[in-house]
Amino acid sequence: MSMQPVIDKAEAHLLHTYNRYPIVFDHGDGVRLYDADGKEYLDFCSGIAVYALGYNNKRYNDALHAQIDKLTHTSNYYYSLPLAEAAALLTEAAGLDKVFFTNSGAEAVEGAIKAARKYAYNRDKTTDHEIIAMEHSFHGRTFGALSVTGNAHYREAFEPMIGNVKFAKFNDIDSVKALIGDKTCAIILETVQGEGGIYPADRDFLTQIRQICDEKDILLILDEIQCGMGRSGSMYAFMQYGIKPDILTTAKAVGCGVPVGAFLLNEKTAANSLVPGDHGTTYGGNPLACCAVAEVLKIFKEDGIIDNVNDVAPYLQQELSKLADKYDFIKGERGLGLMRGLIFDTDKVKPGDVVKSALSNGLVLITAGADVVRFLPPLIISRADVDEMIEKLTLSLSEQI
Ligand SMILES: *Cc1c(COP(=O)(O)O)cnc(C)c1O
Repeated sequence: MSMQPVIDKAEAHLLHTYNRYPIVFDHGDGVRLYDADGKEYLDFCSGIAVYALGYNNKRYNDALHAQIDKLTHTSNYYYSLPLAEAAALLTEAAGLDKVFFTNSGAEAVEGAIKAARKYAYNRDKTTDHEIIAMEHSFHGRTFGALSVTGNAHYREAFEPMIGNVKFAKFNDIDSVKALIGDKTCAIILETVQGEGGIYPADRDFLTQIRQICDEKDILLILDEIQCGMGRSGSMYAFMQYGIKPDILTTAKAVGCGVPVGAFLLNEKTAANSLVPGDHGTTYGGNPLACCAVAEVLKIFKEDGIIDNVNDVAPYLQQELSKLADKYDFIKGERGLGLMRGLIFDTDKVKPGDVVKSALSNGLVLITAGADVVRFLPPLIISRADVDEMIEKLTLSLSEQI
């Protein structure tokens, strides 16, 4: 099959909100994707940190097939077994008490913001509370999520935002302290900033934010939609910092391809925020999505997915560092676990050009921020996959000189 007719048909009818690469993906297996012409790609993007288990995981596929034959939707007026199972497994995995299932990451952030505002409203019966978010953050494209996204370019044309949001500098505790007031109801941040350029939070920064939140009864919302679900080397990245959020948002890998997200709350926040009538969703938590969540979490445990992350991530880091040493146009490497970035000197080489030539060499990568090539492989990769990736990337880098 030629890909061009598919591309032409799509472009004729889809709203043009993405500049897509001219590739029609057809199927995947393990850490590999195949386009409609049969060309093979090594995937170090995972559909943006979604396909944690790799493609065509038999156990996952079988569970979904079986669920499709039973029931895919009930509405939230009723219970289903997958809903109960997913809720129990996800709260256990996150170490939090209650969960609300959504259809996307942005929708999870919306719910987190509403829960935080309701918590503050219950406390003092006023409605002008403020949220502190971070510069260069990304939380999604809906109005609440966009309002806490620290990138003016995404927000500008769509003003006014929800209001009462202030932006602090990530990893600069003084800039957070300077914004805190009697009206602050929540601080929201990504434990590892993803879209902004792969910046892990500093340990001191996060610990001090937790302390401030405890002292002032401010809710800490951690957005782990990208860095969560094992990618960091722990189920959620915050677990490596010795702190817990009051509200956690998760999505992307939580369904491994089925569109699902969630926000989770500790008991204190859950008991003093959203009640029946405050929040809802038609699809959220449906049996198909929850079947995916439950099966993913079971496979994570039984297949030792996080052990593999901790086994392979240091090797990936080491090999990327070697590239940074070898090429003068690569300024360095950073990240956590299997969420990593190579930082480019954009006067010399553009990350977007590297991604394009990698694709032609059969390697799927994406960029982050203005100067980063981002690595988000399926969590099942081996060292041999890393070696193959480095080989393809090296070829792509040599084409830039
Ligand atoms: C992708 C992402 C979102 C938005 O998720 P969608 O499912 O695209 O709405 C929010 N926060 C972070 C950190 C993300 O990486």
